[in-house]
Amino acid sequence: MNQLAINGGKPLRDRPFSPWKTITDRDIEAANRVLTSGVLSEFIGAWDKNFYGGVEVQAFEAEWSATFNIKHSISMNSATSCLYAAIGALELGPGDEVIVTPTSMSASATAPLIYGAIPVFADVDPNLCTLSPASVEAKITERTRAILVVNIFGHPAHMDELLAIAKKHNLYIIEDNAQAPMARYKEKFAGTIGDIGIFSLNCHKHVQTGEGGVCVTNNDRLAERLQLIRNHAEAVVGAKEESNIVNLVGWNYRITELQAAIGRTQLEQLPNIAEDKSFLANYLSSKISDLTGINPTKNLPDCQHTYYIYPLHIDSKSLGISREQFVHALQAEGIPIAPKYVKPLYLAPLFQQKIAFGKYGYPFSDPRNSPPSYSIGICPTAEKLYNETLCYIPWCSYDFSKSDVDDIANAITKVWDNRLDIK
Ligand SMILES: *Cc1c(COP(=O)(O)O)cnc(C)c1O
Repeated sequence: MNQLAINGGKPLRDRPFSPWKTITDRDIEAANRVLTSGVLSEFIGAWDKNFYGGVEVQAFEAEWSATFNIKHSISMNSATSCLYAAIGALELGPGDEVIVTPTSMSASATAPLIYGAIPVFADVDPNLCTLSPASVEAKITERTRAILVVNIFGHPAHMDELLAIAKKHNLYIIEDNAQAPMARYKEKFAGTIGDIGIFSLNCHKHVQTGEGGVCVTNNDRLAERLQLIRNHAEAVVGAKEESNIVNLVGWNYRITELQAAIGRTQLEQLPNIAEDKSFLANYLSSKISDLTGINPTKNLPDCQHTYYIYPLHIDSKSLGISREQFVHALQAEGIPIAPKYVKPLYLAPLFQQKIAFGKYGYPFSDPRNSPPSYSIGICPTAEKLYNETLCYIPWCSYDFSKSDVDDIANAITKVWDNRLDIK
């Protein structure tokens, strides 16, 4: 009766789960308000009153700052643009190194290259999968200028330890918080702890504007530089009388009034969404906590995880089956679960071949740079997570209810109970 679906039994779950959807009537009204006004953007790439964007953009940014208790929010057309702008704003360039993580979306590691700086990979913590402070410290050289830390899956990194390292070595911290909006590290929001924090509003995240991102900072000078980089800096700095023009070759990273208006209504929903994702994930963790060999992330005390992804660590020795066998058995039960988060980023062709801009290997080939090794083995924990232990439920891809989570927990328990039947 309890035969596993992978062995021909009845799947525990035979209906699909509802996909995640955040657009409501409030967003439609907001979009209509902008469309009716006829003004889809008010940005001007010149030192003009519209340099900072239109009414919706400015209201969205003010509301974002109020929600996250931060001085400045600068909207951009993606979190990738935010990462690039952050590297630019911090005046990084050839000769500089930025410590990055192998376990993230690719832009978290490639951003330094855009300005000719070199990404240096440090390993991750085996539980949180965020940067390991000890590994970060071991990778510091006289060229290191910044740490680009990612609050991966929705849990904040070891920020106190990283802040102490940054202080000791005089480094900036960029916090890629694309997956952790409203996560908390002690009394602060994740993303507001480093020098610049980054959020994503792409269509896969907790809330969305289709495409979009926000940079946050408490530093007035950095805020101004981010705004310049977003909006054609080189055409603005003369009239604005900027004395330091390093990296002020601007891009067009602006968002439209339409995105900003939707961003405002999406932001209204965010606290409840984050609370709900977190509540249901903790409920799942409590239901499967006795199953030897299947380990949810152990959250740090005083931290709130907002679960972009629900990670599970498989200890195949004590479980008796491999991660792949576990994942395939659960998939057969109708549960959306994926083996392997992204391949350690240094294994991408870009780093393996050291080819980025132009055919001569810039910036790796720049004589001011001294690129590190990107070989297999440099981050053994990240490789082990990828090759053997980590699997995940894409928590933000579905609109799970409590009874859906019961099905997930029951399916995991069913697979665990019958695991020795798996061939
Ligand atoms: C989604 C994501 C990004 C990129 O976001 P975009 O808005 O799509 O550019 C960057 N870092 C992490 C960790 C992400 O999950």
